[in-house]
Amino acid sequence: EAKKEGPGKIKVFRQHMLDKLQESRTLERDMAMAIENKEFVVYYQPIVDSFSREIYSYEALIRWIHPRKGLLSPDSFIPVAEKTGMINEMGKSVLEMACQEAASWAVPIKISVNVSPLQLSCKAFAGTVLSILKDAGLPAERLELEVTESSLFTENSTPLNTLNKLREWGVKISIDDFGTGYSSLSRLSKLAFDKIKIDKSFVNSVSTQEDALNIIRLITGMAKSLNMKAVAEGVETEDQLESLQALGCDLAQGYLFGKPQPCVEDKIRYGLIHSHKRTHTGGA
Ligand code: C2E
Ligand code: MG
Ligand code: MG
Ligand code: MG
Repeated sequence: EAKKEGPGKIKVFRQHMLDKLQESRTLERDMAMAIENKEFVVYYQPIVDSFSREIYSYEALIRWIHPRKGLLSPDSFIPVAEKTGMINEMGKSVLEMACQEAASWAVPIKISVNVSPLQLSCKAFAGTVLSILKDAGLPAERLELEVTESSLFTENSTPLNTLNKLREWGVKISIDDFGTGYSSLSRLSKLAFDKIKIDKSFVNSVSTQEDALNIIRLITGMAKSLNMKAVAEGVETEDQLESLQALGCDLAQGYLFGKPQPCVEDKIRYGLIHSHKRTHTGGA
């Protein structure tokens, strides 16, 4: 019976692979037009102080408004963009949009932008960031770049040099999805990061699993001793927040405080209407 089923299964499997290939080719083709057609937009999700819940910064998260498929989330197209190298152009466009947006806010909080390993391995990247900041009129201190551990897990010295250069200019650096990659401690210590973002897989079970709690305790302790801030991502419940507060995690991000949205809160965009002191930022 297994023999009868075998070839059929292979056929189905082969068809599945071909479909996947076709899908990714279509995506590649659509992507080439998408930047020009301005189909990529940026959503903003707040990162808050774990205790006061005041907004500390916003993270810029790319979305693709696809003409036929509708709103696509990054996990469905970033891997393709990485493979084709299109991520460089896409990433530059996100940086431009996010920096311009942040420069327009009445409250000078930070903007956090994700950077792919491919972008970081380009020697020209640091210069690109500098000219985007200049064009937007955004002080370097207000930009934070989120990089993953895999960016640094390479023999190539460009990513580390680039990050060190950006940091000297005042740009802040966060390490994203911490705990899921393979960063060696020696590599981490070569670059003083400003923040460690604890992956949401740990945060998810912080109030229900002893293991997750212990891992977060370890990471926040490490962050403290290296003079970095710890940020918990994916905080969805009050219980989770309570555990994180008890562990001394400084900042938090998640649906509990706000989902990614195309617009930031009015109090950030326009300032506090009732306040006597309106804060004005540099820029245009
Ligand atoms: P990330 O940088 O780790 O971003 C956090 C992700 O967690 C976002 O998914 C966000 O929507 C989601 N999230 C936030 N709070 C919660 C929560 O409470 N519960 C749950 N279940 N999820 C939450 P998103 O927007 O789909 O982005 C996925 C990933 O795509 C990002 O993960 C980042 O690695 C990548 N990405 C997004 N925008 C860009 C970009 O402009 N450039 C690059 N290179 N990568 C990007
Ligand atoms: Mg991120
Ligand atoms: Mg993350
Ligand atoms: Mg993540």
